[in-house]
Amino acid sequence: MRKKVIAGNWKMNKVRSEAVQFLEDTKGQVPSFNEVESVICAPFPYLSELVQKAEGTPVKIAAQNMHFEENGAFTGEVSPVMLKDIGVTYVVLGHSERREYFAETDETVNKKVHAAFQHGLVPIVCVGETLEQRESNQTNQLVEGQVKKALEGLSEEQVKQTIIAYEPIWAIGTGKTATSEQANEVCTHIRNVVKDVVSADAAEAVRIQYGGSVKPANVEELLAQSDIDGALVGGASLEADSFLKLVEAG
Ligand code: 13P
Repeated sequence: MRKKVIAGNWKMNKVRSEAVQFLEDTKGQVPSFNEVESVICAPFPYLSELVQKAEGTPVKIAAQNMHFEENGAFTGEVSPVMLKDIGVTYVVLGHSERREYFAETDETVNKKVHAAFQHGLVPIVCVGETLEQRESNQTNQLVEGQVKKALEGLSEEQVKQTIIAYEPIWAIGTGKTATSEQANEVCTHIRNVVKDVVSADAAEAVRIQYGGSVKPANVEELLAQSDIDGALVGGASLEADSFLKLVEAG
């Protein structure tokens, strides 16, 4: 039985006081880490403080991106060494917004996934198609390519520890959730791809989240699907009450 992972991706939202208040408001109400993995993906400036505030609670803190190099002349970038140093444990890689606006590619995502494992960070690797690609029946092929490239060169053990987030771009922030069947179909395909390119054991272990307009009203149905092991949630993760409902469903 794969443990569910519910991750709230705050994106570029909240100021410091709001970020800290969120942890106060959810304190003592998040299910134990053994029941469900609850993750907050926060903006860089607040990571260190949130890690300290979340210590001793089940909530884990994630970065929303990082560079693949350890250090050097990369102005404006944050390295895996820095994230590890401040106690961050997960990192979102290849989010569609980074692919679209910040030139993230399958190649850089793969380098970042390797860098994450090198530094003991759990990667949450995002994949997903545009509406145009879905309408021209390219979804499975596109997502398959993204997954294969992201996982290239990883050991079986590393693949087992990877979290893949299937986020159809047309469902992000639009209020248009994929139906649970549509979401599961692609998640099943991703699992089959992992089986083909890595192993049956890796496919059984790898966790696959769905993301795209997930909210308390639809999370249970999504999580009930055979191949959906969690959710990566934007808008509905910003309010403490709503985040608590999501993790309780996990
Ligand atoms: P929404 O939940 O706001 O649609 O965002 C999904 C997402 O992109 C999470 O990474």
